[in-house]
Amino acid sequence: MNLPPNALWIDQDDYDVRGFSHGLYIDGRWRPSSDGRVIGVVDPSSGSVIAAVPDATLDDALAAVDAAAKAATAWRETAPRKRSEILRRCFELMVERSETLAMLISLENGKALRDARGEVAYAAEFFRWNAEEAVRITGEFGTAPSGTNRIVVDYEPIGICVLITPWNFPAAMATRKIAPALAAGCTVILKPASETPLTAYALAALYSEAGVPAGVVNVLTTTSPGPLTSAMLADPRVRKLSFTGSTGVGRTLLGEAAKHVVSCSMELGGNAPFVVFDDADLDAALDGAMIAKMRNAGEACTAANRIYVQSGIHDAFADGLRERMAALKVGPGMSADTECGPMITRKAVDKIDRLVKDAVGRGAKVLCGGSIPEEEGFFYPPTVLSQVSPDADMAHEEIFGPVAPITRFETEAEAVMHANNTEYGLAAYIYTRDVARGLRVASRIEAGMIGLNRGLMSDPAAPFGGVKQSGLGREGGQHHGIAEFMEAKYIAVTF
Ligand code: NAD
Repeated sequence: MNLPPNALWIDQDDYDVRGFSHGLYIDGRWRPSSDGRVIGVVDPSSGSVIAAVPDATLDDALAAVDAAAKAATAWRETAPRKRSEILRRCFELMVERSETLAMLISLENGKALRDARGEVAYAAEFFRWNAEEAVRITGEFGTAPSGTNRIVVDYEPIGICVLITPWNFPAAMATRKIAPALAAGCTVILKPASETPLTAYALAALYSEAGVPAGVVNVLTTTSPGPLTSAMLADPRVRKLSFTGSTGVGRTLLGEAAKHVVSCSMELGGNAPFVVFDDADLDAALDGAMIAKMRNAGEACTAANRIYVQSGIHDAFADGLRERMAALKVGPGMSADTECGPMITRKAVDKIDRLVKDAVGRGAKVLCGGSIPEEEGFFYPPTVLSQVSPDADMAHEEIFGPVAPITRFETEAEAVMHANNTEYGLAAYIYTRDVARGLRVASRIEAGMIGLNRGLMSDPAAPFGGVKQSGLGREGGQHHGIAEFMEAKYIAVTF
């Protein structure tokens, strides 16, 4: 692209998203990439390029590691109270700027403004929660069983962290890592997805205003994430990789990290079952399904990917879901009345189309939606399918779009069997009025998180993460999130 090397321009006169600093954010300064190349940012509702950000090189990545290393000692020695106050200020600034941040998210990601506002609120909470956690990191003190010495366990910051985030929650996936890392006393390099860099840079400007010292948070965007990540992991000063993204890329990165025995946290893909029993409250189940399926137009790792409904309630549920899905207003995320925005890329739309055609080819019935509209932009209509075969590709792959596939079941055992018939294990949803059954099924479903009569479970105060191929480690929660950025040091003391 032929643009000034350090320009972040946003070709949207109507929106108040100007005035952000721009460039790679390294050592507290904005800079172009060392070879001057830029990445175009596309508005998914039109398909046109609306902004450009620098495309970092290997030299830029290593400069970011240098900056994080230079800032590390002072930051880990900064009093927890002071770190806490800085994080609290990040929270306050995010809240003050929430409308502008929401617009940026909506612009580059495409999600409906109401979803973007929800994301900013959720993302900001990671700063508030970790500000509160930063001053509650304790150690252990005990006597060795032999009685010969005391055992002191101290929790120390793990060191320099590389953080890699996806495009579907450009703010929250970044703050869910940055806030606990900073609370723990680590310095970081964030590599956000190149589809949604504007939010990450807008947040970087906010950190420095909040008092985060230069070099503590560095942000770089690149079209060569593989080589740059490998180079950073090969630097012995880097001790942590925290990744959120697809299982495929996660596997590759675990291999890279293994070469240097770097600690990893992996928040990977999902394939959430949404199970509705005959005795469920129908309206509550439909409300929950709409949230679990349609938050971010289905582009969420926790999205209900397979909906299993017991025979007695099946027809009423399918009818209700069709009615609600068909009524959703589809449009550009920035339009005030939009409820379902575009997908992130044309490729994402094509994948959804392939999955729907495969399911229909195996006998699924289209209750609404089901084909790509002709308008510009990366849109796919809210779609409900019934009689979806358990063999359909969409029962095994993330749809990541506004498609709700319904499969009928008869018994509790069958529901559990369907739910666990996946390599993933991130989230699951259960609707029943029988609490004993709800808890029993929750314990039998292999997932890190369960929504029992709830369509939304994300909460900074609770541990977020998956089992099986959905990842390793947890984010948020009491101690869980911070613990991923700490190392236990044992000191044997005789006195
Ligand atoms: P992705 O794996 O394609 O990309 C994620 C990030 O990794 C991006 O920043 C990308 O640039 C980077 N990346 C890609 N290849 C890389 C490589 N070889 N080395 C280093 N970095 C590389 O995922 P995506 O399409 O951006 O996001 C969607 C996926 O993320 C879905 O699978 C979704 O379920 C998952 N996700 C999981 C969670 C969770 O908490 N478990 C949350 C959000 C999204």
